[in-house]
Amino acid sequence: MRLILTLVALASAAPASAQNLSAPLPPTILWHGASERLVAAPADPWITPAEARNFDETPSYAATRGYIDRLVAASPLLRIEPFGRTPQGRELYAVRAAKPGSRAKPVLLAQGGIHSGEIDGKDAGLMLLRDIALRGKDRLLDNADLLFVPIFNADGHERASAFNRPNQRGPRIQGWRTTAQNLNLNRDYLKADTPEMKAMIGLLRKVRPALYLDLHVTDGTDYQYDITFMFPGWDGRYAHSPAIGRWLDRSYRPAVTAALARAGHVPGPYVDAVDGRDPAKGVRLGADQPRYSTGYADLARIPSVLVETHSLKPYRQRVLGTYVLVEESLRLVGAEGARIAAAIAADRASRPRTEIVSWKAAPKPLFVIPDFKGVAYETYKSAASGGPEVRFLGRPIVQGMPVLGQIPDTVVTLPAAWWVPATKPEIIALLRVHGIAFETLAQPRTLTLDMVRVAGPKLGAANEGHVPLSAEGYIHARRQETFPIGSVRVPSGQPLGLLAAAMLEPESPDSLLAWNFYPEILQRTEYIEGYAIAPLADRMLAADPKLRREFEAKLQADPKFAADPDARLGWFYERTPYYDERFLLYPVGRELKR
Ligand SMILES: [Zn+2]
Repeated sequence: MRLILTLVALASAAPASAQNLSAPLPPTILWHGASERLVAAPADPWITPAEARNFDETPSYAATRGYIDRLVAASPLLRIEPFGRTPQGRELYAVRAAKPGSRAKPVLLAQGGIHSGEIDGKDAGLMLLRDIALRGKDRLLDNADLLFVPIFNADGHERASAFNRPNQRGPRIQGWRTTAQNLNLNRDYLKADTPEMKAMIGLLRKVRPALYLDLHVTDGTDYQYDITFMFPGWDGRYAHSPAIGRWLDRSYRPAVTAALARAGHVPGPYVDAVDGRDPAKGVRLGADQPRYSTGYADLARIPSVLVETHSLKPYRQRVLGTYVLVEESLRLVGAEGARIAAAIAADRASRPRTEIVSWKAAPKPLFVIPDFKGVAYETYKSAASGGPEVRFLGRPIVQGMPVLGQIPDTVVTLPAAWWVPATKPEIIALLRVHGIAFETLAQPRTLTLDMVRVAGPKLGAANEGHVPLSAEGYIHARRQETFPIGSVRVPSGQPLGLLAAAMLEPESPDSLLAWNFYPEILQRTEYIEGYAIAPLADRMLAADPKLRREFEAKLQADPKFAADPDARLGWFYERTPYYDERFLLYPVGRELKR
């Protein structure tokens, strides 16, 4: 972030050549590995565009499709499956690699370029598709299909520049993080605002992948790991889908780690430095909310892995690491398809009674990684920042690294069902997008439900196209409510019950309420004139000694209130039946279990 701000400031202060503005990065660590043998020879007619440019460049959307079309024309194993369209009109497509035959096989869905500047997955996938189609790796398809999305954020991919990713070592021209609507697809899984995400969720529901890989590149502090990955369930922690989490932790993690090590890479866990200026302080390992691919997939019962190559490693090394990871993932999906299917079935059949909807920092480190593969660094005084800054030295070190984890913060007991009124069609449409089951009322229904009033609402800073809502509290109370025709009852006892809870429980930090999908409840309507409320208030004071004591206490405690006639009358208005009784009332009801 600091580097980005610096560039903007320089650019606006005085025109400068691009050369002067390239961000100086820490030294690289020299690398060679067995995976280098995967790179095609210069004269190879099937050399991919990135290989042909020695991984200095990555092909455009059109050039990527051009290479894929050529491969598809040359191989009966490949075909293109369009699944949507971007706001700027680009086709979203996947390439399916499959052997002919009627038997349904488990599918590996590998997604490149959700953040399109982080494009390693695309160029790794082109090489792997070539090697499957034409170079003898078709045995990978004996027991599994590969569904490969080269560029998920296709519009962002074409907002290409040499200045999009200052912390990243290649390719030279990179795509942009957000979509043409300036939305971050890896914050959009649950709320699904974008056509791209609606399309991807449609693809996930159609394909039901045995494994879903989300391929990224991470910035952050320097370390030796060139490829890192993470999933809920790592070290047995944080998984809402425990059977899936166990398979990922006990089968996937060791197999992929070993394959990467054999190929000469340095795999590690995807972690986040607690303090970028003091890397020794520790790293974070935590649960992801369902705005992210991993948090979403965990609630949707989809085995999913977040892959993050390290931005300071050269592009060639990162692409090769991604290739090895995707190849090994495909081999594993083929070899363990039945076990993965059993884990998915177990988690889909489970009917949890509670859900941890938010987490907080654990008071002390969970454990220490004794042999964390770090990089030596020193600090120096920066004239620009005015304080100490870190300078990485490109020399491997081994350090003990504390891992800071999380503990449950808010745990909700799930109701038997949620009731969403027909007056919120956009919420019902979103339930449908996600494939959440519900019944639709053919007749109005009146019933007594647990309903929630938002206490002390606060609007946050604009975030991902929304102005999020937080609150001092959520007040639950029984209430009789009539739901019109077209309202829906969403049972919690269904495979996606936890996902429904994350969307509909008001305490969930990624709920649609928290994203402020119900801004209408924040506005009070109707009012009462002073000539009507003043005599009514006087009568209330005279008739109710308890109310009088409350009012007097308020006058004592709040001189500003005492001096404000409208505020005083408003205080009484709130306590009359004329007051807008739906003000701050969350319209989704909770049907409690008997
Ligand atoms: Zn990313």
